[in-house]
Amino acid sequence: MTERAVAAPTGYAGATDRLWRRMRGPVDLVFVDPGASGELLAARARVHISVLLIGLHLLPGWPSGGNRAVLLLAIAALAYAVVVRRMATAHYTAGMGYATSIVDASCVTASLALMCLDDPMAPLQSIVRFQLYFLAILLSSLKMNWRISALAGGLCAAQYGALVASIYLSVDAMPGWPGQAGRLGTLVGAGYLGVVVVLRAQQLRDLSTRDFLTGLATRAVLDGRLAEEVSRARRHRRRFALALVDIDNFKRLNDQHGHPEGDSVLRGVADVFRSSVRESDLVARYGGEEFAVLLPEANAAEARARLEALRLMVEATPFADRDGRVAHRVTLSAGLAEYPGDGGSVAELMAAADARLYEAKRTGRNRVVMAS
Ligand code: GH3
Ligand code: MG
Ligand code: MG
Repeated sequence: MTERAVAAPTGYAGATDRLWRRMRGPVDLVFVDPGASGELLAARARVHISVLLIGLHLLPGWPSGGNRAVLLLAIAALAYAVVVRRMATAHYTAGMGYATSIVDASCVTASLALMCLDDPMAPLQSIVRFQLYFLAILLSSLKMNWRISALAGGLCAAQYGALVASIYLSVDAMPGWPGQAGRLGTLVGAGYLGVVVVLRAQQLRDLSTRDFLTGLATRAVLDGRLAEEVSRARRHRRRFALALVDIDNFKRLNDQHGHPEGDSVLRGVADVFRSSVRESDLVARYGGEEFAVLLPEANAAEARARLEALRLMVEATPFADRDGRVAHRVTLSAGLAEYPGDGGSVAELMAAADARLYEAKRTGRNRVVMAS
């Protein structure tokens, strides 16, 4: 029988994934900074939608054909969309999500208000331009922040409500008010749905970014942060350290006490990690009883001292068994690599840390090995 070579899985599926990846940008960013990656996605979608709207306005016979101001507004919206896309790529800040949602809603209101130039009542009957509010709310949902979705829904409703009120005041009557009240209701409903969609997406994201057993970051988060850390360190000539940590003789503990006991020790070790690292550090469950610790800004000596402290803490911690009686003690072995001394890429650093972890095992376990 002949053996068939099987291609190594890439971690992400085929052609549809590649298409989606072009649209959403680097997948790593989704795990590292969902706000930034959402803003980038929204910025791209805004450019595409602006182009589409300009195209519609240029159609012969399009109702706003005579209204040059609206076309100019659509072109200005495209220019703004292009600028935002550049900013989202290069200079993203958390406030950007709020600011762009406010501008989006205001652009829709401005384009409705411009209709009054032809006919003061026209915004009340407008179909397409009113529906742009829903696009603005949908766009906000891409930013993965429920507050921004709530703001977008609330702002669209408030601005449209103010526009309708000003028209009613100018004609001193309230023609078709139930229909307008219904429009306001649907805007509030869309904002509400946006909030729900974001919260749901966050819940699913949590499931994919946190290891189910230990609650630590998953391998996907680690890979994203590592790629980000390497490019940041390269840009700003900074250092960072990466450790691969493995529980010693864990199979024996499983064999002697059973896997449920092993699981509770894994959770206990993860708790020690969580309580000992800094906020800017990252601890991920790398594999079965292996962990990766990323220490930004740490040089080799600092990283070694901190890994040693972690090792001693785990060694000194008795992990309760399932009956609550104190029972298990475990030790750790760790291999430490430093950027840029041990390599300039994630793969090189991983290989260096892995080789040193192997060295720690080979030379007796319960130790941290770094470059000699
Ligand atoms: P070494 O000191 O060389 O690392 O020895 P070890 O026994 O720790 O290493 P080995 O690779 O032989 O065994 C790792 C064990 O970790 C085997 C596997 O059953 C156990 N393990 C991996 N994941 C889990 C898990 O989620 N729960 C439990 N209970 N055990 C796990
Ligand atoms: Mg082990
Ligand atoms: Mg192992």
